[in-house]
Amino acid sequence: MDGLMMNYPLSLVHLLERVNQLFGKVEVVSRLPDRSIHRYTYAEFYRRSRQLAKALTDAGVQRGDRVATLMWNSYRHLEAYFGIPACGGVVHTLNLRLHPSDLGYIAKHAGDRILIVDDVLLPLYEQFKEQAGFERVVVVGHGGQGAKTGLDDYEEFIARGEGDFEYPKLDENEAAAMCYTSGTTGKPKGVLYSHRALVLHSFAFALPDAFGVAQKDVLMALAPMFHANSHGIPYVAVMLGTKLVLPGSQVDAENLLELMDSERVTVTTAVPTVWGIILEGLEKNPGRWKLAPNFRGLAGGSAPPESLLRRLDAQGVSLLHLWGMTETTPAATVSRLKSYMRKLPIKQKYAVRCRQGWPLPFVEMRAMAPRGEAPWDGETAGELQVRGPWVAASYYNMPEEARRWTKDGWFCTGDVCTIDAEGFMKIMDRSKDMIKSGGEWISSVDLESALMDHPAVRQAAVVAVPHPKWDERPLAVIVRKEGVVVAADDLRSFLSQKFSKWQLPDAFVFVETLPHTSTGKLLKSSLREQYKAWKWETPGS
Ligand code: ADP
Repeated sequence: MDGLMMNYPLSLVHLLERVNQLFGKVEVVSRLPDRSIHRYTYAEFYRRSRQLAKALTDAGVQRGDRVATLMWNSYRHLEAYFGIPACGGVVHTLNLRLHPSDLGYIAKHAGDRILIVDDVLLPLYEQFKEQAGFERVVVVGHGGQGAKTGLDDYEEFIARGEGDFEYPKLDENEAAAMCYTSGTTGKPKGVLYSHRALVLHSFAFALPDAFGVAQKDVLMALAPMFHANSHGIPYVAVMLGTKLVLPGSQVDAENLLELMDSERVTVTTAVPTVWGIILEGLEKNPGRWKLAPNFRGLAGGSAPPESLLRRLDAQGVSLLHLWGMTETTPAATVSRLKSYMRKLPIKQKYAVRCRQGWPLPFVEMRAMAPRGEAPWDGETAGELQVRGPWVAASYYNMPEEARRWTKDGWFCTGDVCTIDAEGFMKIMDRSKDMIKSGGEWISSVDLESALMDHPAVRQAAVVAVPHPKWDERPLAVIVRKEGVVVAADDLRSFLSQKFSKWQLPDAFVFVETLPHTSTGKLLKSSLREQYKAWKWETPGS
C-alpha cells in the first residue's frame, strides 16, 4: 500500500522561491576583482536569477542543455547556480585552474552550448574557445566596464529577461548541475547532479550532527564554486537563508581573514592547504583579526594533519573534518566525537578528529578487501565503496568507466581505508599513492601527517619510488619552515617514535615548494615522475 502523501519534487526552484519569500532581506556579499565589496539581498538575487532563467529560455536553452560558467565566487556565479537550473538547464562549472586544453576537452565533452565568463578570465577563454565551440558567450563585466569584445554583456543579457517567467515543471531527478573531476587520477570525468541530490545533500549537510548550520549563521563559500559545488555551501545558504559571503579571486590570508572578521563569518570550508595559509596569517598577526566567537571551519579534500587541528584550536578555530568527492556532491562523512567520547583524553580526541569519520544519514560505506568486505576493526584495509542518494550512479557519457561501480550498486572511490568498531572511517591513501614495499603497504598519508607534526616542517609529501629489491620504497620531499635547519636523520628519528623501521622513508629531499593540483592537493603523480630514477644509496639493501 502506498502512503498517501504528495509527490512534491525536491527541486532548486523551491529553494529560490523560499529564500525570496522568507529571507529577502538577508545579504549576499561579494569581493570583486578590484577588491571592492558588492552587497545585495536575496530579494535582488531572486529577481536577477529569474531574469537570467528567462533570458536563457528566450535564447533557446532547452531542458537539459548545459550552460557553462568560467567564474570566480561572486553573486553573479550564484545567480548562474540557480537561474540556469530554474529554466531547466544544467549549470556546468568549469575549473579555471585547469590547463586550457583540458578545459576545451571538458566543454566539448559536456556539450556546453553557452558560456558565462568573468571578463578577467577572457584571456583563458581565448585559449580554448576553438576547441570548446560554444554557440554563445556572455561576459560578466567587472568594475562596470562591461564587455568590450563584441560578445554579449551579462547585464544586458539578463535585462532582456525582465518580466514574467514561468518555471518549467521540473522532475526532481532532472539534472541541475555538472562538474568534472579535476583529473588528479586520470582523465576528467563528468558528474551530473540532480535537483534531488543537491537538495538532499543540503539537508544532510545542515544537520546538527553533520555541519550544524542555522539561519543565523554567516556562510562563506571559500572553496571554489567551480570545484565540487563549493562543498555545497551556496545551496545550503540559499536553503536556510543564511547571509552568504563570496570571496572572489583573492584567496590570500589577508583578504580572507579581513572578510571573515568584517562580515562575521561563522562557517566556511576549505582544503587543508588553504587552512594552512589562514593559520599562518593568524599566527603571524596576533590579535589583528577577530573571528566570530562561534566560528567553525570544515576541512575536506585531503587529510588535515593533527598539527593543523591543534594549532588552529590554539587560535580559537575549531576544524571539523569531512571526507567527500566530486562524485559524492561532495560531503559524505564527518568526524565528530560521539556523546560518550567527550571524556576521552585529549590525545585520543585528536586521533578521532583526524579520522575521516562516519557517514551522513543515507550514505553507506564499506571497505572491500580482496577476499570480501573488511570487518570494522580499525585494522583491515580495503577499498572504500559508498552509495546513497547524492552519490553518482555513473559518469556523463563515459561507458568505459562503468567499472567504477560494482554489480551490487556501490561506487568504488579509489581510496583505501579502514573502518573501526565505532564506524569511524580512516583514509589510508588513494590506491595509486600507496607504497608497496616488499609485499607490504605503507600509507603515504600517515607519514605526511606525522612529518607535518615536526616543528621544522612546513609541507611534506611522501611518494613511492621504484626500488631494485623492495619494488617501491618511500621517499619524503620536505619544505622546511623559513630559516629553520633540520636534517634527514632528525626527521627519521622523529618518525621512528610512531613507525616501524621498514615504514620509514629511505630518503629525504629538501625543496623550496611542492607541486599542487588545481584544487590545492599535493600533485603526487608529478613527484613520482620527478623522482622515479632516484639512485638509492645502498641498492639492493
Ligand atoms: P580529485 O580527484 O581531483 O582530487 P576530488 O576533489 O573529488 O577530485 O577528490 C576526492 C578525493 O580527495 C577523495 O577520493 C580522496 O582521495 C581525497 N579526499 C577528500 N577528502 C579527504 C579527506 N578528508 N582525507 C583524505 N583524503 C580526502
